[in-house]
Amino acid sequence: MIVSSFAPPSAPARSSAPRPLAQPQANPACGPNDEICLSCAPSAAPNWKQLAVSTSAQAAAASAGPAGVALEQPLRMLLIGPPGSGKGTQAKIVDRFFDVPHISTGQILRQEIQQQTELGKAAEPYVKAGQLVPDSIMLPMVDNRLEKEDSFILDGFPRSIAQAQHLDQTLSRQNKPLTCVATLDVNDEIVVKRLLERGREDDTEEIIRARLKVYHDQAEPVMAHYQQQQLLEHIPAEGKVPEVGFNLVTRLNQRLDEN
Ligand code: AMP
Repeated sequence: MIVSSFAPPSAPARSSAPRPLAQPQANPACGPNDEICLSCAPSAAPNWKQLAVSTSAQAAAASAGPAGVALEQPLRMLLIGPPGSGKGTQAKIVDRFFDVPHISTGQILRQEIQQQTELGKAAEPYVKAGQLVPDSIMLPMVDNRLEKEDSFILDGFPRSIAQAQHLDQTLSRQNKPLTCVATLDVNDEIVVKRLLERGREDDTEEIIRARLKVYHDQAEPVMAHYQQQQLLEHIPAEGKVPEVGFNLVTRLNQRLDEN
């Protein structure tokens, strides 16, 4: 991978300098499977240090002090995983490591609903009912958001072959080929256990299993679509947060090296 100073051409709101990589630091509040502890991530998985020295990114990091990886080429990834697989957490690690914005369609919709924008009002009944928001709303929303970013981690989209085909066309039109489609693989029984332990009121076992079924029905054809394009990376995601993050970042590095 070639590295240079980081200046995302179409993301002016973000810092033009690489952000500091998480520094090893003991944090007593951080447990083994916690929500993210970015401070601990690199130290909790010793391989993080190895990763840093084994990539040419280290050259930039060394010369710039304790800086994050600065990419010359864009990183464009889709993140797929069941509820409770740690997508948000892993997206934060990738963002922290590569300085790439995390775009979550669920989050955008929740924000639009909260602000009661036209889009939010149109999407609200579907989101409240846990149904897919129609493509007539979703596709322009995603197109507009992607237009603003050269690099991105897209989470929550696509959820159907029709959305995947649309995304292919949009990215091809915008001349932004994907780097990778990463799936966080967690056994259903572990997801059920994790979500029950999280203890949210609406997380009964029955509801969790129903959400998992919807996830599999939606995600599997999408995964097959990207498998055909040789973009799919399966990341085992049953381990500890920093280990999963290490694997994910390593695979992304390899993909970038191959480009
Ligand atoms: P999430 O946070 O990804 O689980 O999304 C929350 C809700 O937003 C979903 O239950 C859907 O109602 C809606 N949503 C998010 N992404 C999409 C999408 N790609 N297509 C349709 N609806 C979506």
